Amino acid sequence: MRLSKMYFRTLREIPSDAEIPSHQLLLRAGLIRKLASGIYGYMPMGYRVIRKIEQIIREEMNEKGAQELLMSAVQPAELWIESGRWSDFGPEMFRLKDRNEREFCLGPTHEEIFTDIVRDEVKSYKDLPINLYQIQTKYRDEKRPRFGLMRCREFIMKDAYSFDRDWEGLNRVYEDMYDAYTQIFKRCGLDFRAVEADTGAMGGSDSHEFTAMSEFGEGKIAYCENCSYGATVEKATCDSAIPEQHEASLELREIHTPNVKTIDELTKFLEIPGKKLLKTLIFSAKNELVAAVLLGHRELNIVKLVNALGVQEHELEFATEEDILQCTGAAVGFAGPIGLKNIKMLVDREVPLEKNTVIGANKTDYHIANVNYGRDFVGDHILDLRMVEEGDSCPLCGSGVKLARGIEVGQIFKLGTKYSEAMNGTYTDEGMKEKNIVMGCYGIGVSRTMAAIIEQHHDGDGIRWPLSVAPYHVMIAVVNVKDELQMEMGEKLYRELLSNQIEALLDDRDERAGVKFKDADLLGIPIRITIGKRASEGIVEFKLRKEKDKEELSYGHVISRITAILKEAGIQ
Ligand code: ATP
Ligand code: MG
Repeated sequence: MRLSKMYFRTLREIPSDAEIPSHQLLLRAGLIRKLASGIYGYMPMGYRVIRKIEQIIREEMNEKGAQELLMSAVQPAELWIESGRWSDFGPEMFRLKDRNEREFCLGPTHEEIFTDIVRDEVKSYKDLPINLYQIQTKYRDEKRPRFGLMRCREFIMKDAYSFDRDWEGLNRVYEDMYDAYTQIFKRCGLDFRAVEADTGAMGGSDSHEFTAMSEFGEGKIAYCENCSYGATVEKATCDSAIPEQHEASLELREIHTPNVKTIDELTKFLEIPGKKLLKTLIFSAKNELVAAVLLGHRELNIVKLVNALGVQEHELEFATEEDILQCTGAAVGFAGPIGLKNIKMLVDREVPLEKNTVIGANKTDYHIANVNYGRDFVGDHILDLRMVEEGDSCPLCGSGVKLARGIEVGQIFKLGTKYSEAMNGTYTDEGMKEKNIVMGCYGIGVSRTMAAIIEQHHDGDGIRWPLSVAPYHVMIAVVNVKDELQMEMGEKLYRELLSNQIEALLDDRDERAGVKFKDADLLGIPIRITIGKRASEGIVEFKLRKEKDKEELSYGHVISRITAILKEAGIQ
């Protein structure tokens, strides 16, 4: 492509609403254009990157025997009502009605649709296993769309659905998909970890998330450097970090704490550490009141709470002041586990281990000291409710876990028979018995992967695309387009590169060399050939985007040099 003819525009300034590097660079390099909050279009150069990522995905999915198809993004409500998710999905679902008032949604994911087509066509065990995938636009009315392509309301996803006779089959395809994902993200040049994950609204049992490491990632993982353990912080199991206490139990004592409400205020007021306090958080879940009790210095893990209650995250809310008054008899800030009324109480498993703790007295401006679990109160359930912390012991080997931020680029799930049971997806086995199909699903955020690659591959001047996903491999910058010799050499090289299947851009714009170099750096084209003054001697300048040094090269060596680089990167 000749840049003089190309539809593209780069920006020198950083767009004010772009907070993280990938968002800034996607806009500055003119790769995407915003239409509305969380809704973007892909410009020609950006779309080439998307297609490269898609191609890598296709190759690795096909390699594992998965087959590509394309389903509709508009989905009838009936299928979602059948699976029970029409209400479970909540406000994230874009819903619409047709002219006859029939309800539809714009697909946020496709479990129902794939289960529907497969149940109609699969009859016998001989028809299984099947693994189908598509690369398609998904719609989720996210609460906070942000960070450019990271969290959009319209985004590109590869989603695959596997259908097997039994769990053994599912385990096999799950491993295949795990391997395919590992290959895909490696080929995209990402530094990533595959970690255990919660199954969320998808349901099912096991799940792994593929997390691209980045300080700007919205996700957080806990991992162990000593063994293979890794999990999202929502999923990570927490062993108690508290040794058993041998303190004698003291007598209960009411303390006057006027206007002292938060854990921070209390630790200061009473001059005791946070772990000597119990916090009691009150929620309403599907109109039922729930108290979660944990040590004062710990953070509640909402996902663990939601899973324990068997509700969806959007069905859990902080209790209103009225609700709190009704169950505690006190103002907000003085709730405690003794004497709560009409409420289910879930207690973190560290709570019984701590002795002589301070709790809210369920009486405005009062707390109670020397509270001991068992003697003074008991919960309905004791369970792991807290958020993992750096240094907590690894559930596999016991050494301290580390925490890191990352971007969830893909996730795989063992769904089991959740959907096939709800939607009657069955087959007849060898003994003519009717059985539920065992399913898995596997997603990759294609557009989010593009953003993740930029997060990991950029510098102060712009993007540094890995060759595997670069929109073009080579940029030819002609320094002075009015110089016939330079222009001729540029054209000649351009045509030679193309005939060698090397993707080249020819910067034939009548611009200063500085502008051309800045754009080439911003766009992140991996190889730059500059044709300038020494063209008359048959010499050009060779530079790799990821390195500082430039090198003079005789024209005759350019193609072989580039071919060697592409070969080494596995491109040719
Ligand atoms: P998240 O936790 O980030 O909201 P999710 O777990 O709901 O994502 P999945 O249902 O697992 O997402 O979707 C598969 C993949 O699609 C994700 O791993 C992610 O890469 C991508 N994805 C999900 N939501 C978005 C979004 N709003 N914008 C861009 N990509 C997304
Ligand atoms: Mg996910």
